[in-house]
Amino acid sequence: MTSAFNPDCPAVSTDALQVEMVRRSSDGEVIEVRAWIPTQTEGQIHVLRPQLRQSTDHPPFTCFSCGHPVYLKKHITGGHFFAHKEKSAAELANCVFQDGRHLSLQDLDRMRYQGQREGARHLRTKELIRRIVASDHRFTEPVVEQTWRTFGEGWRKPDVASSWDGLPVVFEAQISNTYPAVVAERTAFYRSQGAQLIWIFDQLPDGYWRTLHADTFCSNQQHLFVVNEECARASEDAGEALFLVYRLRPTVTFHHCEEDGFTTLAPCQMEEHDLVAFSSLRLDPEAQTASLFNVADEKRRADHKALCSLVHAEKASWTDLEQDIRTIIQRKGQIPYETVRSWAAVVCAIEAAYLWCPVGTRYANPVSVLNLVHDAHPAFFGHLIQTLQRLGFDTVTHLAGAWKKRVDDFQHGRYKGGPLPQPHSGSRALLAWLYPE
Ligand SMILES: [Zn+2]
Repeated sequence: MTSAFNPDCPAVSTDALQVEMVRRSSDGEVIEVRAWIPTQTEGQIHVLRPQLRQSTDHPPFTCFSCGHPVYLKKHITGGHFFAHKEKSAAELANCVFQDGRHLSLQDLDRMRYQGQREGARHLRTKELIRRIVASDHRFTEPVVEQTWRTFGEGWRKPDVASSWDGLPVVFEAQISNTYPAVVAERTAFYRSQGAQLIWIFDQLPDGYWRTLHADTFCSNQQHLFVVNEECARASEDAGEALFLVYRLRPTVTFHHCEEDGFTTLAPCQMEEHDLVAFSSLRLDPEAQTASLFNVADEKRRADHKALCSLVHAEKASWTDLEQDIRTIIQRKGQIPYETVRSWAAVVCAIEAAYLWCPVGTRYANPVSVLNLVHDAHPAFFGHLIQTLQRLGFDTVTHLAGAWKKRVDDFQHGRYKGGPLPQPHSGSRALLAWLYPE
């Protein structure tokens, strides 16, 4: 006895398909037929079939290549496939999905790419970018690419184009995940045009970083741009363009050695992820980067801070630090031992205030690192106070006692009952480099 028809069975597709990619009108989603049919049950397919056969001005599914209506057919072996309702219309439109036409894998890949880009996610992302750009009057009126140009028509316009302070800025929504070559090609094109291209994702990579996330991230100074509804709304409320930016910033973290009791600094990469004002980004159309920091510069600073902590803890030679400082400030002449030690002490004090731990010492309390600069390195005490103020590290409100008194004295021009010591003038440029505005 043959089994009865079971509508709950998953549907199967035929081995050979006529129309391999279709567009669903209700949401604009581009569907790859071979993958999609098995996600439907026999029952669902059989409900859909008569709907597609009915003639209507708004066909529920159309061919992705030529845009003409398609319908579902069932092969004698039981497999389902899509076919053009009117073969002659597809022929006239020079559709790539026709009997006897051989579509290379590469052609299919290109179509799949465009399909994903023009899918519903892409449309949503484009609209979010438009809203963000339109919220900020410093951007010119955004031009959004509306027309759908089919496969084979060549170059597309950017998704959203505008200009910022005279610089053409284009945004491309990045939905697909398999086309690094396209990214490279676009980037080179906009560089040659003197325009800034910014790739926008609609979600953060989770545990698994796709090739394209990684490529885009690494070539943009470890910054990745994301848009979502919250970010568009925040931009509209603030009247300025805000993007969700995920980044890895090279910095330092503290390391406490149990054996000798010293706390020192080690370079690391810190995750940052928040809304960033477009106006705060450094745009570089030559390098095609839009970022808050330069990775190589930040790494250089982190390495220097770590070295300062090691020298302060006497775990590295002061001459290594002397050499490093001379390279940074491009100085030929030697720097005295005392100055190098003072420099290490002041950097450790600033980092101690920031990380709130006793950097470069065996002290129990970070405020001891600050007091050490006051007591032993008078020519650097003023630098310490001023740098902490400039960076917004408030060490006074939460600290009573000796430190608060010393800061008060400094504000009133007094130091240890006398006048303020002359600040070490050679350190100004180095401080400005190590702690930029
Ligand atoms: Zn077609």
